[in-house]
Amino acid sequence: MTNPLMPDVSAPASATLEVVPLGGLGEFGMNMMALTWEDTTILVDAGVMFPDPDQLGVDLIIPDMTYVEARRDQVKALILTHGHEDHIGGVPHVMPLFDGPVYGTAFTLALVEPKLEEHEIDPGDRLKRVQPRETVTIGPFTVEFIRVTHSMPDCVALAITTPAGLVIHTGDFKIDQTPIDGQHFDLHRLAELGAQGVLALFADSTNVDRPGFTGPETDVIDGFEEVFTSTHGKLVVATFSSSIYRMQILVDLAAQFERKVAFVGRSIEKNAEIAQRLGFLRVPSGMQIRDSEIQNYAAQDVLCITTGSQGEPQAALPRISIDDHRHVKLSEDDAVVLSARAIPGNEKAIARTMSHITRRGADIITPSMKRVHVSGHGSAEELKLVISLVRPRFFVPVHGEYRQLAQHARIAKRVMAGAEPRLQVLLAEDGDIIQFDRNGARIADKAPTGRVLIDVTRVGEVGEEVLRDRRHLAADGIVIAMVAISRHTGALVGEPEIVARGFVVDAGEADALFKDAALVVIDCIGTASLEERTDQGLMTEKLRVELRRFFKKRTSGRRPLVLPVLMEI
Ligand SMILES: [Zn+2]
Ligand SMILES: [Zn+2]
Repeated sequence: MTNPLMPDVSAPASATLEVVPLGGLGEFGMNMMALTWEDTTILVDAGVMFPDPDQLGVDLIIPDMTYVEARRDQVKALILTHGHEDHIGGVPHVMPLFDGPVYGTAFTLALVEPKLEEHEIDPGDRLKRVQPRETVTIGPFTVEFIRVTHSMPDCVALAITTPAGLVIHTGDFKIDQTPIDGQHFDLHRLAELGAQGVLALFADSTNVDRPGFTGPETDVIDGFEEVFTSTHGKLVVATFSSSIYRMQILVDLAAQFERKVAFVGRSIEKNAEIAQRLGFLRVPSGMQIRDSEIQNYAAQDVLCITTGSQGEPQAALPRISIDDHRHVKLSEDDAVVLSARAIPGNEKAIARTMSHITRRGADIITPSMKRVHVSGHGSAEELKLVISLVRPRFFVPVHGEYRQLAQHARIAKRVMAGAEPRLQVLLAEDGDIIQFDRNGARIADKAPTGRVLIDVTRVGEVGEEVLRDRRHLAADGIVIAMVAISRHTGALVGEPEIVARGFVVDAGEADALFKDAALVVIDCIGTASLEERTDQGLMTEKLRVELRRFFKKRTSGRRPLVLPVLMEI
């Protein structure tokens, strides 16, 4: 094996390992990285980012793929660390760009599969299931998978042997010493590799600002036990649909407190099904009920596990909070738990959802009131432990905003103080081309980077999803509906104004079409409930769905990007 501290002198002078973070550095989400040695490139993760509420009409954001497209023929594999959206959400957009395999653990790949189906991508035999401690060889690279603990099952770090030396990428992790599924962080392997010599460590920086240790997933059990004990009505817990460990804790408590469990919401239902099929979630037989059966049971006998903890207008909890869910209604004695952190930018939507819930007399419990949420990312002491086990020559903080990356760099220098040779930190951002060769490492150049906005059209309840990107935007154009409503009554003020760009219709038809679109807006607002009308997030989503349906029907299937702009007066 090449000793990273003594660069391989047999390598030609030009031999360089090039590592390019394409997303996730200097921002949260859409994690993706490319490693290149001569004419072989491998990709690590392909994530998405979720837009701010004010990025109207955008459902997902993926990294700019120019760098990958330019290397089409030399990209040999995509390697996934775990199944969170910010690591796999972009897979359907990346797989068509190259021919090779996609490696991931069983659960990760099981979460990728339905995404490919939605995008009508047949993976053939390209999805390659791997296990921790397994290695795969891709040209000059050998990739070993190392188990880590995080907020979902089956997560791995990567140890990538390259001709320039060993590179370790942590993926997302915390050090959970009492994992729900008994699958421990493979700290032993990390230490072994550290003893052998590691060229570079790329490490998760998300929680670098938090001192101490994050705490295990089991930390929420006591808090939830109190909630189960004190709730006399229905219990509704909103969490992320990938939080399988959280679901297991809730299912176990429900068994203890003799409540039936219903998974409410498409994504959470689907993930619970996948997790049960693969043995990552165990629900005692007879305990799980469908959401349509909830009304057959007394409120105190039901636990609903649902999505919408961020107040997302299309998710279940915000619909439930305004009595707009077919099977779940809230009343006094019920309790709603927000078992997730508020992602910055979503505070307003969450606050509105909480108000709706409170108006129905239900209790709300948030992580600031009881320990009903614990992060999946390691705090400062856990990050330090990993650095001191790995003892890299070069350190590259990833997964975080610039200030967190910089803080992680400071911590790494402190941990490695006195090391010989001295630790060198490469504080990179998206697109920076990091080169490792016999002379050391440096940020050499900049690759094209940026964001691609994706608009996923939702049609009705079936949720038929249609991929839209900039090409579609160019072809089908954009329709903006400007709507003024009263802040208090939610009533329409004046006429809605419909503006279109790049949306070609016969001049003769345009007038009638836009007039009818305005009628759709008027009707949509007129039939909405007061609470819905005065909730900008919910109303915008409703208008978007209705207008899309209208334009699709009236223009023989064209799908312009529809942006309702709601102004409260
Ligand atoms: Zn994650
Ligand atoms: Zn992540």
